[in-house]
Amino acid sequence: MKFKSLKSQITIVFLTLVTLTQLAGLVPLDISIDRNAHASVQSNLQVGEKVFLNILDNNAASLSLGATILASDYGFRSAISSNDNETISSALNNHQTRINADVAIFYSTQDDKTTTSDNVSLADASVAIKRIINNENRNNQSLDIEIFNGHPYQVVLVPVKAPLTIGWVLMGFKIDNTLAKKLNKLSNLEVTFMQLPPSGKWLPIASTFSAKNLADLQVAFRQTDIGSMQKLDFKVGNTVYGSRVLTLSNTGSLVVVLQRSITEATAQFETLRYTLFGLIVVGVFIFTVVTMYFSNVISSPISDLAAIANQFEQGNYNLQVESDRKDEIGNLSRAFNSMKEAIVIREKKVTRLAYWDEVTNLPNRSSFMSKLSESIQSSGKDQTPFSIFVINLDRFKQINNIMGRELGDALLLNVGALISKSIHPSQDFAARLDADEFAVLLKGKSPEECLQVAQDLLKAFEQPIQVGNQHVDVSAGVGLAHYPEDGQSDEQLLHHAETALASAKKRKVNIVEYNANLDTRLQENLMLASELKYAIEHHQLSLYLQPKINIKSKKADSTEALVRWIHPEKGFIFPDQFIPFAEQSGLIQKISLWMIEEACRVVSIMREKGVELNIAVNISTKDLIDSDLPEKIANLLNAYQLTSQAISLEITESSIMDDPLRALTTLNSLAEMGLKIAIDDFGTGYSSLAYLKRLPVHKLKIDKSFVMSMEKDENDRKIVRSTIDLGHNLNLEVVAEGIENIQAWDLLAEMGCDYGQGYFMGKPMPVKDYIAWLNQWNEKVDAWQTMA
Ligand code: C2E
Ligand code: MG
Ligand code: MG
Repeated sequence: MKFKSLKSQITIVFLTLVTLTQLAGLVPLDISIDRNAHASVQSNLQVGEKVFLNILDNNAASLSLGATILASDYGFRSAISSNDNETISSALNNHQTRINADVAIFYSTQDDKTTTSDNVSLADASVAIKRIINNENRNNQSLDIEIFNGHPYQVVLVPVKAPLTIGWVLMGFKIDNTLAKKLNKLSNLEVTFMQLPPSGKWLPIASTFSAKNLADLQVAFRQTDIGSMQKLDFKVGNTVYGSRVLTLSNTGSLVVVLQRSITEATAQFETLRYTLFGLIVVGVFIFTVVTMYFSNVISSPISDLAAIANQFEQGNYNLQVESDRKDEIGNLSRAFNSMKEAIVIREKKVTRLAYWDEVTNLPNRSSFMSKLSESIQSSGKDQTPFSIFVINLDRFKQINNIMGRELGDALLLNVGALISKSIHPSQDFAARLDADEFAVLLKGKSPEECLQVAQDLLKAFEQPIQVGNQHVDVSAGVGLAHYPEDGQSDEQLLHHAETALASAKKRKVNIVEYNANLDTRLQENLMLASELKYAIEHHQLSLYLQPKINIKSKKADSTEALVRWIHPEKGFIFPDQFIPFAEQSGLIQKISLWMIEEACRVVSIMREKGVELNIAVNISTKDLIDSDLPEKIANLLNAYQLTSQAISLEITESSIMDDPLRALTTLNSLAEMGLKIAIDDFGTGYSSLAYLKRLPVHKLKIDKSFVMSMEKDENDRKIVRSTIDLGHNLNLEVVAEGIENIQAWDLLAEMGCDYGQGYFMGKPMPVKDYIAWLNQWNEKVDAWQTMA
């Protein structure tokens, strides 16, 4: 692990490199020293060889002179003539001594008699001298070697002439330690004479070596082939010797081995070698120290940066990388600081995004949830009460579609500001939960005070909110929940506030406080929702008819189709309880198609019974998204052999808003088919007028909320009257729904309303009851007219 660090890697790489470089220098030097030593030894040996041959020449000359002087000595020759052995022997000894020869021999050819100096056996001498005389191949006087007493001698043979050859004089030097030492003295070589006796094993006969070294040489020598022994290295003792072997005798049985210690020859270079090695060691050591220092200089800022990066990883951004270096490390350190600053900014941004809503500049849902759970925790065991409420704007989706996203966002910003203004900033907390849903957490207030805060806020909404240069009317629903009674956890508390909000929206009231019954109702609705699909497929739906009367002629020539769900257990279920869910889940398309087909069937049954009817079917936005709807309706009309006069359509304003472009295309196709289209619940919508201008609408249905109490409420009356005028000015037929009494009828007749619908004339009824009702109605009309 340690060697994986950058520092160790740099040190190891550089040290390896420098060591290899030094070795690359040292090895050839070492080889060259060795080669030089060998060359110098060889040259010493060559010189030694010359010196040795020179000595032999000198010896030969000296022997030759000694022998020649003796051979020409008069006394000596007389002694030979007179056969005076004693004189002969004495002369031999005298001359031998004079030239320091080791052997002197006289051989008489006349009487084949041999005389020797004192130290040679006669028998040996006699045999040897005859052999030499008879050896015709003798050509090198200086290298005549003979064995006497088993020992080699350098000999010279000279004839004694009177005038004919009467005998021979032989003189010789013994080849022994003296000769070896002499040569050693002159050439500084080790000298060893080796002889090969008839036994076949080389024996040293003279040497400058000690006995032990000589034994080593003898062993090495015996193991070597003499033929290839001219230049050899022999190990003697612990020393290697460069060696040169010279053959001395014609038979090759005597050699001289000249040797020079290679170890000694290299000794002079050894100091150089050690010095060099020492220098390398010192160099490598210095290099190691320097490399470690620099690798430390390079790697320690990187290690520091890595340590700081680790701190960054753990979210500690307080560290600043300090470096005033101007090099790459300095640049890296500065880049680290910039990177840190960028990360800090980005992290702040991300955190803000995670907990903050950019559009309204309020905390978001996550923040609200944390605040909620924090508040629950800090309430402690005594469960200090607090409250929350959620606010949802009415029809925000439509506002967004009409005004555009940008103004929609601006509206949300203003709503957010209004909410923030309505609370106590130091103890309360406001957040945006979702698109048009806000939440407020209120502390230190009783449930009644919290309700009051919500009411005050809704009151503030009564003033139009300015967005750009437009003023937008905003309304909202509020759901309230109190801690701890309405929920023990953050999730539960918010869920219950949202349940209360849903109930407020559904009941079209401003504020609802949570209670457990809301959940039961919700549960029931959910149960119903899950059963709806089954109901559609198993004919649990039923079409009810509610008459629409021509106010002027009082003729009942139109009806509205209203769906009823006749549940096998729960009985009658009104559309308000399941249509909203059907719209959300997409089941509405099935319901609408079923209703349209059922309406077609009813029209054709009625026609068979002589009653001409137009049935208005309610459809929803989700139906308008289906661009095949016109074709489907056309197919149904065809199937029942009806024209487009038989059916008309009612669309509630909120449902048009969802996808205006697509809805408009479908509506245009429907209108082109000749179907009459009515805007339902007119007056409760947000932008009815804008739509009247753009949509292919033929009728306008004033919402029952204005009609039901118009006889009592002056304002409602004004609204109804103006709406009728507006419709007529736009060439639209006007229908009033919710006529519950004759006063309303009369008022509408007086206002010139075209059609009327309501419990006063007839409640929604099963198809089977319609003809009976129609008959009753006609009778009633007759009576009415008679009275008039
Ligand atoms: P809507 O289309 O405005 O229908 C009129 C509603 O007012 C009907 O309620 C009707 O019973 C009620 N009504 C009529 N005259 C009076 C009156 O004099 N006094 C009072 N208080 N109420 C009166 P209903 O049948 O409960 O339908 C409620 C809503 O459900 C309808 O309002 C319509 O928007 C929707 N709806 C009903 N049937 C269908 C359907 O087949 N398809 C779709 N998409 N929506 C339907
Ligand atoms: Mg309707
Ligand atoms: Mg209506």
